[in-house]
Amino acid sequence: MSLTSYNGWPASKDQAEIGIKSYPVPGTTIKLRCAEKVAPLLVGFAAEFHTLIEPIDTGGLDDWGYCYRMVRGEATKLSNHSSGTAIDLNATQHALGKVGTFEAGKVPMIRALAKKYGLTWGGDYKNRKDEMHFEVNIGPAKVAELVKKLGLDGVNNE
Ligand SMILES: [Zn+2]
Repeated sequence: MSLTSYNGWPASKDQAEIGIKSYPVPGTTIKLRCAEKVAPLLVGFAAEFHTLIEPIDTGGLDDWGYCYRMVRGEATKLSNHSSGTAIDLNATQHALGKVGTFEAGKVPMIRALAKKYGLTWGGDYKNRKDEMHFEVNIGPAKVAELVKKLGLDGVNNE
């Protein structure tokens, strides 16, 4: 049986099976583990977030990508981290469930960047907010199109 996380991307405990690799975020000392196909979007987003919103490589190691688990508080709904299509940035500063953890003036830029890279921001969740969290909200064909359009084809893993 093949599993998917709730955005429809393949999820697995076996990282190799779904192409999870480690990607350095340009301009930072951070690496993010994510799925190969969406890595250019997540990594490109993280690099711009670092430059335009706030640095992601200061303080503790609190930036994450792939992690096989359920959505916190749910028994059967696989988190998008399980497919390597979601990242958390500066998690300690933007805790799950907290609102207004970013300066209000930066929120429009966060939304614009998320949109540019085909992502949903957890701060825009209708119910429980998750301001550290960004996830891919488009399917494989649209991802490929967007990667090409943004000129991100050459993003490399280590
Ligand atoms: Zn998350």
